[in-house]
Amino acid sequence: MKKRVFSGARCTGRQHIGNYLGAIKNYVNLQDEYDCIYCAVDVHALTSLEDTSTLQETIREMILDWLAAGLDPQRSIIFVQSHVPEVMELHTLLSMVTPLGWLLRVPTFKEKVKLQPQNVNYGLVGYPVLMTADIVLYKAEVVPVGEDQLPHLELARNIARRFNNRFGDTFPEPQAKLTQFPLILGLDGKEKMSKQLGNDIEMALSDEETEERVMTAVTDPARRYRNDPGHPEICNIYSLHKYFTPSQIDDIAEQCRSAKIGCVDCKKLLAKHINSDLGPFRERRAALAAKPQYIADVLADSAQRARVIARETLGEVKQKMGLI
Ligand code: SF4
Repeated sequence: MKKRVFSGARCTGRQHIGNYLGAIKNYVNLQDEYDCIYCAVDVHALTSLEDTSTLQETIREMILDWLAAGLDPQRSIIFVQSHVPEVMELHTLLSMVTPLGWLLRVPTFKEKVKLQPQNVNYGLVGYPVLMTADIVLYKAEVVPVGEDQLPHLELARNIARRFNNRFGDTFPEPQAKLTQFPLILGLDGKEKMSKQLGNDIEMALSDEETEERVMTAVTDPARRYRNDPGHPEICNIYSLHKYFTPSQIDDIAEQCRSAKIGCVDCKKLLAKHINSDLGPFRERRAALAAKPQYIADVLADSAQRARVIARETLGEVKQKMGLI
């Protein structure tokens, strides 16, 4: 029996190379070793999304990227959170065993309160409980996470443990599987790559658009003129070369330090390698985009498979809680 992996991602539309290197590549590889369940978490998005008019489009674009990158609906369940409504019921039931103090102490809740003081909704407080329901509904044993998400997973483990202690062994305590490339900086060289911050490079851009985006990147700030020696270790372009140009990485560092290569050429080289790495993905994406019904069919089939597991878990939970 393979262990089961669950991962949920917020519906952010077209994915960028930070998502690709930090999560999607890992999702694809995990399919060889685990039973994988991947979820586009649309209900979570409602905690901060006030205009939902583009939500369906962002879901579709994200799933399109996932499938084109190699998530295989024959091997994995790839679905949308709200298509399995049992998760909302489990969220309510788990909220009965979750102390409010645990939720009010969550650092991301405090950050959200500061970020959106005009919209401090109940869903924001309950976010970790819904996230726990997402995972334990499928009795997932492994959750791929970046280091910044470890506290959330710890809270999910605590909620699962508390339920088990009170009502008997039901949920495995999910273990973290740290991703290999946890932090990909954005084009500003300061913050994590993020669509919201506008410092990203979308995977689905054309070759020309990719080069244009790469050209805007901040590099070594001390290298003001072409003949100044550079410091690749503090340059964001160099850090991206590590992923896209691994075979030339020592050469690039040496050429940068001795000013044999200028930043413009170095960026062009990076854009070329990003384009060649993502070329097959972009072809598959274009082919899938031409078949809109295919995405709808994948999501419907996956939701059906997910609901079989979800109903069984929920039945067990309700019985243990004395509701049946
Ligand atoms: S040459 Fe390349 S690695 Fe060196 S500072 Fe410029 S962009 Fe960065």
